[in-house]
Amino acid sequence: MRKLSAGLVTLGLTLSLAACGQSANGAGDGGGGDAKGGLIGIAMPTKSSERWINDGNNMVKEFQAKGYKTDLQYGDNVVENQVSQVENMITKGAKLLVIAAIDGSSLTNVLQKAADAHVPVISYDRLIRGTGNVDYYATFDNYKVGVLQGSYIVDKLGVKDGKGPFNVELFAGSPDDNNAAFFYNGAMSVLKPYIDDKKLIVQSGQTSLNQIATLRWDGGLAQSRMDNLLSKSYTAARVDAVLSPYDGISIGIISSLKGVGYGAGQPLPVVTGQDGELASVKSIIAGEQTQTVYKDTRQLAKAAVQMGDALLTGGKPEVNDTSQYNNGVKIVPAQLLQPVSVDKENYQEVLVDSGQYTADQLK
Ligand code: BGC
Repeated sequence: MRKLSAGLVTLGLTLSLAACGQSANGAGDGGGGDAKGGLIGIAMPTKSSERWINDGNNMVKEFQAKGYKTDLQYGDNVVENQVSQVENMITKGAKLLVIAAIDGSSLTNVLQKAADAHVPVISYDRLIRGTGNVDYYATFDNYKVGVLQGSYIVDKLGVKDGKGPFNVELFAGSPDDNNAAFFYNGAMSVLKPYIDDKKLIVQSGQTSLNQIATLRWDGGLAQSRMDNLLSKSYTAARVDAVLSPYDGISIGIISSLKGVGYGAGQPLPVVTGQDGELASVKSIIAGEQTQTVYKDTRQLAKAAVQMGDALLTGGKPEVNDTSQYNNGVKIVPAQLLQPVSVDKENYQEVLVDSGQYTADQLK
């Protein structure tokens, strides 16, 4: 895992340097008022997760294919970095900003500067909150992601068929990411009735979003929390399932479980996830992680680029949701793509046949 991350960081660095080079040219040739072909600022949260590297990479490719220049930056999960990166993009003359926020509520001031410079903003994957200066939102059906995770647990354990009761523990994402609540609410829409009926038992008693949140989606933090849960609530009982919102968190949870003997003497619990990250898909194939929710970031990049290009050329950004994503100031019109549940049964079809991974990468 560590080796993998190091490799990805190097790859991300190369990508972002390449993108910076292009942006320098872009700013240098003084694109003037012509938005078509101008500079696009792309602000991503972190290179510590594969998906954001792919998102950035895919958008650079798509925007460039349409003749734009790009400035791709990663904030290293530090809010201040992202704010100053976005500020720089505006200074360099970006014609459009595409932002996946680190903290969805921390961009109000910098986006006022964008508005003052008439730079439109697309919120990417994560909703930017607390500002009217966000034009469109490209994302997946985030509530459905949670529904797919919760349903997987219920189906796999056979709770609907009257089996149980089973012990389950719950993990959620970062409290400053608007998506975390959507994932949680979606999952709980399935799990809560069984928890209320005592068909699913949360031995730790920790079920509220703030009790189970994982700041910045940090797998290490999740691992420590799982260590605590196991030592406090599971000395006699066994964990049958763990709701995990993201693959990096799932990997942390699985390490913790293996540390106390799951996977050796006794089977690992059902563990969900999200993103279809390489390490997790390998873990699924190896029979450790049970499920992930795959979101095709190639399609998300295309959706964001369609919106951006339309905004800059007087076209019509495509949206399919104008009700769910209220950011506290306005309802942001959104294009929601469909997530897909993946496990050992269908990874070949969903991830390999679609070209997301080659069979070799999964060996
Ligand atoms: C994204 C997920 C991702 C998580 C952690 C969320 O905002 O929607 O795909 O797993 O952030 O990076």
